[in-house]
Amino acid sequence: MATAGKVIKCKAAVAWEAGKPLSIEEVEVSPPQAMEVRVKILFTSLCRTDVFFWEAKGQTPVFPRIFGHEAGGIVESVGEGVTDVAPGDHVLPVFTGECKECRHCKSAESNMCDLLRINTDRGVMIGDGKSRFSIDGKPIYHFVGTSTFSEYTVMHVGCVAKINPEAPLDKVCVLSCGISTGLGASINVAKPPKGSSVAIFGLGAVGLAAAEGARIAGASRIIGVDLNANRFEEARKFGCTEFVNPKDHSKPVQEVLAEMTNGGVDRSVECTGNVNAMIQAFECVHDGWGVAVLVGVPHKDAEFKTHPMNFLNERTLKGTFFGNFKPRTDLPNVVELYMKKELEVEKFITHSVPFSEINKAFDLMAKGEGIRCIIRMEH
Ligand code: NAD
Ligand code: ZN
Repeated sequence: MATAGKVIKCKAAVAWEAGKPLSIEEVEVSPPQAMEVRVKILFTSLCRTDVFFWEAKGQTPVFPRIFGHEAGGIVESVGEGVTDVAPGDHVLPVFTGECKECRHCKSAESNMCDLLRINTDRGVMIGDGKSRFSIDGKPIYHFVGTSTFSEYTVMHVGCVAKINPEAPLDKVCVLSCGISTGLGASINVAKPPKGSSVAIFGLGAVGLAAAEGARIAGASRIIGVDLNANRFEEARKFGCTEFVNPKDHSKPVQEVLAEMTNGGVDRSVECTGNVNAMIQAFECVHDGWGVAVLVGVPHKDAEFKTHPMNFLNERTLKGTFFGNFKPRTDLPNVVELYMKKELEVEKFITHSVPFSEINKAFDLMAKGEGIRCIIRMEH
């Protein structure tokens, strides 16, 4: 490629300050260094995690920064030592990586790579502690190693999954975070037995994917819990059979769920990021066998409080990043599920905007409208 080894000037949506609309700027993107790849982003979408760190209310502020982690693109060039991907490969970036060499990567049970696990406070590349983005020589920071709100971005090779080039990137880009996370939280972590009951807290993209996962696993009652009643109608398409809006009840939602299910649900998956919902999701599972899985990203000072007796009574609490999928090993197979029509992603995509209107995607999420909004890069 003519651009390999050179700085690329392109457009990126820069967040200069917490909570202020992104502004489209011309940035300089340095060539990839050792074990890095530079990727031309074609489609990206907005996940709640971007919004949490952009608002920076309960998270460490790191600015100016380029957000974005749910995306699809094509490798433009690779740095020294990269053998797994080559220019032209179709890839999905992932906010948590897989080095394939550490104890976690070698364990069948973990995806918490020692080298590349999610680090939301780091704004630089791990190789040399520097940013690959700049404007007039001043660094613009990275976000979770992906920064996909840019026409070109640089990532560690361990944070990109090479996928089937036939897969339409405008659809499968949503598998690079939210949908795989929710699906995996149910299938890989909660593992609801056939005929079981599952409560899903939070019916955004992640929660709806968790509901879909529970249905695929064979759960027969899938109870959606959300404060936004507008979510309920949509959620039926994702397998939800019943709904609870905590606002409609004077007693705690865990009691409401226990009454509905003769003592508690068999499994619950929390996809809100709200610590009270996390506690409710744990306390609503049945004693003896219930398993609760936390997926939402909490406020940095949040504390989870529950009576220890809830554990003694044989309830299990788990948490997961990226639904326990190993990004490079497993994500290509999730894409194949879509290609074989065993997993539908279209129904998660409710809106689409050109890159120049990226702030509209933030407005939609703030209003709780739609599920995922695809942002089309305009190369
Ligand atoms: P979203 O904002 O689209 O959906 C969240 C839903 O939760 C909304 O419908 C909202 O009304 C509902 N909600 C909020 N507080 C609630 C409460 N107290 N009780 C019931 N419902 C409540 O978000 P999303 O993109 O689907 O992401 C969901 C969560 O998952 C976020 O916290 C996000 O940061 C996190 N996340 C985690 C991972 C991971 O790997 N662990 C990956 C992606 C996203
Ligand atoms: Zn590793």
